[in-house]
Amino acid sequence: MNVIRHTDANFTERLQQLAAPSSLFDPVIEERARAIVEDVKIRGDAALLELTERFDRAKLTVEQLTVTQAEFLSAAFKADDSLRAAVASASKNIEAFSKKALRKNWSAKNAHGAKVGEKFDPFQRVGIYIPGGTAPLMSTALMTITLARVAGCKEIVVCTPCGPTGEINPGLLYAARLAGATEVYRLGGAQAIAAMAYGTATIKRVQKIFGPGNPYVVAAKRLLFGQVAIDLLPGPSEVLVLADETANSKFATADLLAQAEHGSGHERVWLVTTSGKLLKEVEKEIGLQLPKLSRRDFIQKDLEKNGWLILVKNLDEAIKLTNQLAPEHCEIMARGASKVAEKIVTAGAIFLGSYSPTALGDYVAGPSHTLPTGGAGASFAGLTVDQFQRRTSVVEYDRTSLKKGLTALQKFADVEGLDAHKRSAEIRVEGAKAKTKAG
Ligand code: NAD
Repeated sequence: MNVIRHTDANFTERLQQLAAPSSLFDPVIEERARAIVEDVKIRGDAALLELTERFDRAKLTVEQLTVTQAEFLSAAFKADDSLRAAVASASKNIEAFSKKALRKNWSAKNAHGAKVGEKFDPFQRVGIYIPGGTAPLMSTALMTITLARVAGCKEIVVCTPCGPTGEINPGLLYAARLAGATEVYRLGGAQAIAAMAYGTATIKRVQKIFGPGNPYVVAAKRLLFGQVAIDLLPGPSEVLVLADETANSKFATADLLAQAEHGSGHERVWLVTTSGKLLKEVEKEIGLQLPKLSRRDFIQKDLEKNGWLILVKNLDEAIKLTNQLAPEHCEIMARGASKVAEKIVTAGAIFLGSYSPTALGDYVAGPSHTLPTGGAGASFAGLTVDQFQRRTSVVEYDRTSLKKGLTALQKFADVEGLDAHKRSAEIRVEGAKAKTKAG
């Protein structure tokens, strides 16, 4: 793990380097993703099969891209009671959280006495990417598909990569189907995003694409923004533990190691602390906890490149640095944690106190774990159910309210030199009345 202390001569420069935009926008990856996206646009299914063989080592036929009803049934059959209970427990919280966050139609009178409001309709056909390169993210299936179902989306298309024999983890398939997926394709990476955006003979194009992924997936989403609507850019996971001397070093260490275990090689973890003693304890704890973890090799590599233990002068400096880094997950293990949280304005999700490890948010707490990374938290928030709803504004004037708004409308039209705009209003107050109220 890399260590930076406020007493280091080049402390400020090193912090600035750390807070620079992350490798999420690596131009090499972007160019590779562009080539894949173009290939899928031009050659459709044929490109999907070739790319799946190249990147996932799976030689599929066109028919095998689609997960069949029999495969869903087999996955459900394999799900034992403990898996069913875990999925049910997480689903309950995710569904309840989503229902609270749903946007509802509203209308009110404006200053002219006219009725104005908004209506919310679910996107009819959405595409969701569920990562599966280094771990079958069954949790991501629940944390995205459930929201689409709660919003009322009719067609919920899921793409997830398969292994070399075409297999998809049955737990993931079970969770995806239970959450509400209506179509599942064995397809990963940038090619999956392109297929959902452009459509192919097998996969009909979608209206909006959701879900996290590795840097190839994120790059494809960036490239296709506009061709299709995009939720946000949730890339390789991150955690920042903001801690003072009251924090438990064992807990803090366990959480840093947990975020580094995804294994894409791009995950980032930071301890930002005001306590030199805690920093030393965490260094020691890493040596004790890491060897016991099954993915220690992934974690070790990631920590060497992207793991930072940072000693700052005081709490204000810790808060400032946290906001600069805009971490996906921010754990606060310090005195007055909720007061500190009020000042954190760029994190994807905040976890307060000693008993809220990020893993709870990853799996079961309720809010979607699909969150902005790579500094994007400064501009984006995490995934919410209303992103599956399309908003339309609605305006209804009658003759009386139109008269009240006329003078202002005429002025705007005069300044802009758009007399047809002005006439379209004047004709209604001067001339014949409408046949019906809304007609
Ligand atoms: P993935 O499914 O995102 O990516 C695997 C796919 O990448 C493969 O199917 C392959 O087609 C493609 N690929 C691999 N190497 C390639 C190459 N050299 N060129 C072109 N394409 C290539 O799975 P993953 O790799 O395990 O990554 C999942 C990521 O999602 C992790 O980094 C994890 O941290 C992140 N994640 C983020 C959030 C969030 O909310 N921010 C949530 C869950 C997971």
